Amino acid sequence: MLKGKVALVTGSTSGIGLAIARAYAKEGANVCLNGFGDKAAIEKERSDIETEFGVTAIYSGADMSKGDQTQAMVQDAIAQLGSVDILVNNAGIQFVSPVEEFPPEKWEQIVAINMSSAFYATRAAIPGMKAKKWGRIINTASAHALIASPFKSAYVAAKHGIAGFTKSVALETATFGITANAICPGYVWTPLVERQIPDTMAARGLSREQVINDVLLHAQPTKQFVTVDEVAALALYLAGDMARSITGSIISIDGGWTAA
Ligand code: NAD
Repeated sequence: MLKGKVALVTGSTSGIGLAIARAYAKEGANVCLNGFGDKAAIEKERSDIETEFGVTAIYSGADMSKGDQTQAMVQDAIAQLGSVDILVNNAGIQFVSPVEEFPPEKWEQIVAINMSSAFYATRAAIPGMKAKKWGRIINTASAHALIASPFKSAYVAAKHGIAGFTKSVALETATFGITANAICPGYVWTPLVERQIPDTMAARGLSREQVINDVLLHAQPTKQFVTVDEVAALALYLAGDMARSITGSIISIDGGWTAA
């Protein structure tokens, strides 16, 4: 389905991003991975993708909180793989704290990684997409692009921001064969969710089980975590030719959370 295409997925050394990169490679796309983590584990993931799926996989350690590194990553991927046809702006972090105690440096970091990095990567990728008259921009937003939760002010602000950015990009690129959409997962069981449990326990004075059942899954009518493979399947559909008329959409995959 994606043979001959190149996909760059930010924040793809873990969780949702890794599942999306693997789903694209499985369909024949060459991929550029990005993110932090153990060097040997990342190299194993990269080479496993090449051997399992018979594609080229490269890795960029660019820091998505730095606009210049983000743009250079896109340009390097184009230089090494020939193009960036599918851009998934997925890197993201979370921090949980009451707003009056929210550390300003954490606010800046979340806005930079969860929102501004999408601007820098998108502006670097669009000229090549316009030239080919084909492109897919998929932003991993969140249910928190549509509704809020307490103690996540920076994350909610950045995710609402990326939803608006997605719509503007969709309008600007609509006649160039390019689509831009945002995927809004509810709670997906990934390291990002696991890591916020201790902070939420502290912020709300709850046990681990209470946080999982009464805070996280409380919001999700299905009472189940979304899986990374379900999110990857949606990202794969949006990358395909059958999704060419879906653009500027903010698409929920949240077990009914935002229906309430
Ligand atoms: P994760 O922690 O498993 O993965 C995050 C990825 O981003 C990792 O590869 C990490 O190395 C990378 N990353 C973090 N900071 C970076 C930086 N400065 N530069 C480059 N890479 C960086 O988390 P995840 O749950 O897979 O989250 C992926 C995206 O999905 C995020 O945007 C997150 O907000 C969003 N999301 C997650 C959930 C959920 O429940 N897990 C729900 C809705 C949205």
